[in-house]
This record gives sequence, structure tokens and C-alpha cells, in this order.
Amino acid sequence: MQYVSTRDHTQAVQASRAIAQGLAEDGGLMTPAYLPKMPKKALEELREMSYQQRAVYVMKPFLDEFSVKELTEYANAAYGPEKFDTPAVAPVRTLDESTHCLELWHGPTCAFKDMALQMLPHLLSASLLKIEEQKTACILVATSGDTGKGALEGFKDVAGTRILVFYPKDGVSQVQELQMVTQEGNNVGVCAVHGNFDDAQTGVKRLFSDEELRARLAGLGYFFSSANSINWGRVLPQIVYYVSAYCDLLRDGYIQPGDEINVCVPTGNFGNILAGYYAREIGVPIKRLLCASNSNNVLTDFIRTGVYDRNRTFYNTMSPSMDILISSNLERLLLALTQDDQEVRGWMKQLSAAGRYQVNERVAWKLQKLFSGYCCDDRETQRMIAYIYHRYQYLIDPHTAVAFSALAQYRQETDDYTPTVVVSTASPFKFCGSVLSALGVERPMEGLDALDQLSQLTGLSAPAPLAGLRGKQVRFTQCVEKEDMVDAVLQMLR
Ligand SMILES: *Cc1c(COP(=O)(O)O)cnc(C)c1O
Repeated sequence: MQYVSTRDHTQAVQASRAIAQGLAEDGGLMTPAYLPKMPKKALEELREMSYQQRAVYVMKPFLDEFSVKELTEYANAAYGPEKFDTPAVAPVRTLDESTHCLELWHGPTCAFKDMALQMLPHLLSASLLKIEEQKTACILVATSGDTGKGALEGFKDVAGTRILVFYPKDGVSQVQELQMVTQEGNNVGVCAVHGNFDDAQTGVKRLFSDEELRARLAGLGYFFSSANSINWGRVLPQIVYYVSAYCDLLRDGYIQPGDEINVCVPTGNFGNILAGYYAREIGVPIKRLLCASNSNNVLTDFIRTGVYDRNRTFYNTMSPSMDILISSNLERLLLALTQDDQEVRGWMKQLSAAGRYQVNERVAWKLQKLFSGYCCDDRETQRMIAYIYHRYQYLIDPHTAVAFSALAQYRQETDDYTPTVVVSTASPFKFCGSVLSALGVERPMEGLDALDQLSQLTGLSAPAPLAGLRGKQVRFTQCVEKEDMVDAVLQMLR
């Protein structure tokens, strides 16, 4: 399998190089040259298999340099019982005959990033060996919360890697900050940056393009790499759980072989829902993909009008992992729909110059045939948390609530009750404050006390990785100005 840049299909490389390098040299995203279809009976065969076996089966055709034996090792290490609190790994919780919730937060950091960030380090360190890279990969991450912790847990003590995470001092929840500053492992570094997520992100981008720093690091035996969702090694493991959810519905008799389902995904950078689209292309019978956004509804507008316009107010919402105005992975969908790298390159150029582009009618039509876009604000998000809790005795986090709102709007509009998989991306205990107030608590407690408060109110226990934060020692206290991030990198690598 060859991988090509979304902006230039003549640059083709093997999977190992695509994963090691992250971004293409022309700024595009590395994308499989074609999508290998699963054999006809595959879904029925996979029905009785474990999540780990399903992962090997789905990923193998995309990774022909990797043996089944290698992939099995990675899948067992990534999704084993030390990492996930249920043998199902990504269980499907059925709310009613046509509404099923795919829980992607049973991993070590209680958010869906674990599904990919537990696998990526294995793929990356094996890729570095395959391309005979001698230097240590220094993974730089700017995070608004979930990615940083997910990457730290995934890469901790992985040979051939160092991981440095920068988070905005004023931009993460208390629980998220505690998760990061107590991180264990001998190859990890965590540093706060004064300011908001944009400051941290801009700072990290500047580190990546700092030639002088790059040369100094090379002298020390390091090169920069990324664990961002633009890396193919993060998208691929996400295709697996769509296949897995379909197999679970088959196994449990909610659908018959060949039946169509819809999927509904709370979306930010478009990585998760893109994996759903790829699952459809390789053979999962998915009829429609519902793209759910919060008040940062740039994708809702794009799907409805064909105009992508990031020139709009940015909102800080209670679903912060979806507070994004540039959804990087959309570029991969555009290539798939057009098969025209030059057209994609043109749009991306307009996006960076003017913050806006418009696709032609043919592309908009293709998009609308498959995707529907909906959005909701924080009030509706809270109302949905309360509604789902009271109607189904099921507790969801604010990101998942945005998806449930999109599904409700879609059904209202279309009366389409095709069995639907709603993707649940975080444990409600990661966002105690918003969840407690959605359930009517007027003054939610602060920090870890809120975990107990939510437990008491609902009778559910907080996931062990969050409850366990209480006894953990704080290892990282540094907070720098964004101008001083170069020094922070050098200090952490010393
Ligand atoms: C990252 C994240 C999302 C958004 O996923 P994308 O792949 O960026 O679209 C949604 N919910 C949670 C909890 C997340 O951490």
C-alpha cells in the first residue's frame, strides 16, 4: 500500500515512512492511494472475534510492511486489560432498538483519543526501525486537554521516543491539568504556557519550523515528530471501532448481515468521523454520517452550503475538544470525493490565505449525499445530558451530548430511524462541572471533589484513572511564556 500527499499524488511512500514523517513535505496529509475493500463475508467472520483481532484484520491491508504477528503484538499491548477497563475495549451500549452508543472512553485517559494513541506509539517505533532511523523521535504536542494526556500515556517509556507536551495554563480543566502534571514515565515532559490554546499551538508550530533548533536537536540525536491527528497512524486505528460496532450489533441481533446503519459523531478536527467514512468505503454498510458540532459550527455550514469559512467568532464551549475552526482532516475527505490533488491544493491555499473556500456543486452534492451536519449550543448540550439521563438512566459527557442533539434534529427532520451508532468520546467524569450543573446542581464542587459529588448523585463510580489522581505526586510545575518555549524544550531534553 502506497501513501500519497493530499496535495500531490506523485509523492508516494510506504506506510512506515508516512507514519514516521507525519505530515507530507508539501504540507498535505499522507493518505492511502486507494481504500482496500474487505471481503464479502468479513463482517460475519469478525462477529465472534475480540476487539484486538478485529483491529489486526482491519489494519493489515493498510500496512503491508507489517506482519500479522507484529500487529497482533501491538493490538494486545494497546488494548489489553492493563490499559482498558473492559475486555470489550469499545463496548456498544444499547439505549433503544434504533439507538446505540459506542463508548470510546474505557482507556487510560478516559477519552476516545486513547483508541488511537495507544496504538500509534507501536506503529511509530516499528516504523522508525523499518526506515532505519537512528535518531530518537521527539514528539511535540500542543493540547487543549485530551490529546496531551492521551499522547503521554501512549508514549510513556516507548523506546526511541521522547514526548513533550505544552498546555495552556488557562485553557484546560482542573482534572485535565492534574492528569498531565502527575504523568509518570522516564521519557516524558510537561510544561504549561501562559495564555490560551492558540498561544500554545502557535508556539509549538514555531518550534517545528525553527531551523536552528532543529539543527541543535539533530546534534543531540533527536528529530521532531507529531502525534497530532494528521498522522495516518492515528486515523487508521479509528476505523477499527466502526467495524467493531457493526459486528457487535450483528452479534447481538440488532441488525442482519447487509443491514445499513447511520453513525453520529461529535466532531472537531474531523479525524473521528473521517475514520467512519473510511469504514464505509472498505465495506461497512453505513448509510449516512451525521456530523455534530457545538457553537463552532463551521462544518455544519460547510456540509449545507459547500462554503468553508473560518472567519467567524470563536466560542469557548463546554465541549472544549470540539472548539476548532480549522478541521485539518477534512482535507482527506476532499481528496476522496474529488480524486483531484490539484483542486485540494488550491482550496487549502485559499483557506490559509483568506480563511475561506468554496467547493463546486458536484463536490457539494457528493458531500450531502453522505453527510448531514447539525450543531447545538451549550444550553442545548446541558438539556440533552439531562434528557438522556432521565429518559435512559444513562450519563453522557458534553461532547457526546452534542451528538445526541444532532441525532434528535436529524430524526425530527427526516423521520429516519435507521439503527444509529452514536459515538461517545469522553467519560462524563472528565467534565464533572458541566455534567453536574446539567443535572441541576447549582454549585458544583471544584477539582477532584466534583468526582465524588457526581458519583454520589448518580450512583456511578468514577473511572479508576481519574479517581486515582488523588494520591499522585505532581511532577511538573514549570510554566513559561510562549517566547521561551525553545529553552523549555532544550531543558526537558537535557
Ligand atoms: C478530540 C475529541 C473530539 C473531536 O474529535 P475529532 O477527531 O477531532 O473530530 C470529540 N470529543 C472528545 C472528547 C475529544 O477528545
